[in-house]
Amino acid sequence: MSRYFSKDYAEAQSRFREGATKLGFSLESHSIGVQGPDGNDLEFDVACSTGGDPSRVIVLSSGVHGVEGYFGSAVQMAMLEQWTQAGMPSAKVVMLHGLNAYGFAWSRRFNEENIDPNRNFLLPGEAFSGSPPGYAELDSFLNPKRPPFSFEPFKVKAAWLIMQHGMKKLRSAIATGQYDYPQGLFFGGQGPSRMQSILQQHMPRWLEGSEQVIHLDFHTGLGDWATWKLLIDYKLTDLQRETLTQCFGPESFEANDDSEIAYDARGGFGQWCVAQKYAQHYLFACAEFGTYPPVKVLAGLRAENQAHHWGRAEDTSTRKAKQRLKNLFCPESPQWRETVVQDSLKLIHQALGNLDAPGESGT
Ligand SMILES: [Zn+2]
Repeated sequence: MSRYFSKDYAEAQSRFREGATKLGFSLESHSIGVQGPDGNDLEFDVACSTGGDPSRVIVLSSGVHGVEGYFGSAVQMAMLEQWTQAGMPSAKVVMLHGLNAYGFAWSRRFNEENIDPNRNFLLPGEAFSGSPPGYAELDSFLNPKRPPFSFEPFKVKAAWLIMQHGMKKLRSAIATGQYDYPQGLFFGGQGPSRMQSILQQHMPRWLEGSEQVIHLDFHTGLGDWATWKLLIDYKLTDLQRETLTQCFGPESFEANDDSEIAYDARGGFGQWCVAQKYAQHYLFACAEFGTYPPVKVLAGLRAENQAHHWGRAEDTSTRKAKQRLKNLFCPESPQWRETVVQDSLKLIHQALGNLDAPGESGT
């Protein structure tokens, strides 16, 4: 499975374009108006199958969190290859590749405006302002305004903070998203991102005529090593809950309201897609695959963010921080890569099984 993982964004993009073209998908690229490390304009790609039934659609998206796209792209590549060999499903396929192309290309989880795209999809009436209680206190720890030292006593400080505040409070203060610290971690932005505007404009066309949509958005970095969970960031209807249970099993998902590892975050891609009412039945799940423990992941995020804003791109410390972040969200381990891609393909087949037999889920 390691062969599906690309060495950088440019390679992932060209392989994706090639794989989708081979299957006769229609392909379009959308510029996000900034450049990658090779000096080329960055674009994300959208591929739609041309032969499937447009009323039943599977949407597979990767790279909302930039660097996590190494994994999501590998899943898309593996799926394209399988379809090339075994034939296409009867449902229509829409693939969104490298949505946060800047983060993917520059080894960041955030975008060209330091926005966490999964906190940026606010609904009408929600304001791009505010922060969870506790974020202000944590700001100087999370977002030091200086280049990284060679020794950062992160774990000591983190352990002290966990003792002082408790893990749960800390997690909610950190990962809920904030709208007040533009250079900080988990910044939701001060308006819709370029990616969001592009999706807003074109999603209706890609999903034209759809009645039932299952959308899997691939992520990494949360949960135990090589395990997965479907995270739901909106209130499920009974029908959505039933479809999730039928497709993936009763233990497969955690909804916003009953969650241990998800949290009360605003601005998620899922709730936004569902709220747009592109289809009568739109089921969105964030397929989250675990890598390393949360404190380690947070340490890597902090170091990369610090190096990105306060270091120089050519500094060894900056390069190291970015390499470390990439490894945290896309481990080199062949065993991890094998497991997560196989499990992702299984999830996609389960979703397609449901789309093939819509009557059985009562839709
Ligand atoms: Zn993610």
